Amino acid sequence: MAQSQAVAIHYDKPMWASIRAKRMELQSCDDCGEFHYPPGPTCPHCLSMTLSWKPLSGRGKIVSWVVYHRQYFDDYPPPFNVVAVQLAEGPIIITNLVGPEPEGSWIDREVEIVYEPDARGEPLNRVRLVG
Ligand SMILES: [Zn+2]
Repeated sequence: MAQSQAVAIHYDKPMWASIRAKRMELQSCDDCGEFHYPPGPTCPHCLSMTLSWKPLSGRGKIVSWVVYHRQYFDDYPPPFNVVAVQLAEGPIIITNLVGPEPEGSWIDREVEIVYEPDARGEPLNRVRLVG
């Protein structure tokens, strides 16, 4: 087994740099104003190639979740969760919920981005419940 590891391609590098700085940013279109994820060369909403990296509010809500009871990586001992979070800016990211877990359904629970050290000690974006 091995440690999990971010795989950064050309378009991802500014995002990973912003996460390491504990101030996550995503691409935003200078023409239509929409944020999008994953990063790429064009806006998926209007096909503009005029894009900027902008900071996120850090707020969002859970749109899906799963709890794994099998180990895939040394740094994710079971049980561990994976959540899909729709950010306030629109894009959906995949991450982990840290801290208290909701009773019952996790859907529509409000969360905020927090930064916790990964297995190498580098900040990694996760989310925790708000309120
Ligand atoms: Zn656009």
